[in-house]
Amino acid sequence: MQIQSNIKKINDDICAAAQRSGRDASKVTLIAVSKRKPPEMVQEAMDAGHRDFGENYIQEAMEKIDLLGRKSAIWHFIGHLQSNKAKFAVKYFDLIHTVDTVKLAKEINRQAKKIGKTQKILLQVNIAQEATKSGAKKNEIVGVAKQVCQFDNLHVSGLMCMPPFFDDPEDARIYFKKLKQISNDVETLNLPHTTMTHLSMGMSNDFTVAVEEGATLVRVGTAIFGAR
Ligand SMILES: *Cc1c(COP(=O)(O)O)cnc(C)c1O
Repeated sequence: MQIQSNIKKINDDICAAAQRSGRDASKVTLIAVSKRKPPEMVQEAMDAGHRDFGENYIQEAMEKIDLLGRKSAIWHFIGHLQSNKAKFAVKYFDLIHTVDTVKLAKEINRQAKKIGKTQKILLQVNIAQEATKSGAKKNEIVGVAKQVCQFDNLHVSGLMCMPPFFDDPEDARIYFKKLKQISNDVETLNLPHTTMTHLSMGMSNDFTVAVEEGATLVRVGTAIFGAR
């Protein structure tokens, strides 16, 4: 019951934020981030009609997805991905949000080709240039996009970022704006295998600001499933 009402509240907040900024709320998808939460809680969200889920750890995700059904949801990989796990990410996930090097893209492409899949990916940008975070640097992203778009078994669907945590979500706004700007820059290149459809940005504390700045995918964990 709690999970269902949390999802409803967040969807209402998304609608309000979209309205404030003159956006169409149907262009925003709420991804329920279920990392370190048991499959029963994911099932509860599914039973409430929720479709999109985000997972961070390959091993944990495979166990949950095997149990709940590969086809019973849209699965988003949002954790740091090592090349040696690319095979599993391709097998289990509809969208991989965290591609930040050409090397990783190349391995995902190789694994996707093996199973005849076109893998949808997002390029992750280290938007605040934090030493502790993954993601390509802002000034590298166009170069990465130009190389990644050459891979036949990948489709680049947009960009993802994770700004620093701020007590006041307003402080994250400049980073969301920046991601949107970079997305526009990539779009003007008209690269093959690339459509800048998605901006994956915004978490429990700042998703309304992200929606105001153009997010199409918001990744919310704590506000749905409780603290980890
Ligand atoms: C855990 C996680 C989230 C969800 O964070 P909350 O603050 O719990 O909403 C979103 N995105 C990424 C990449 C995460 O690792």
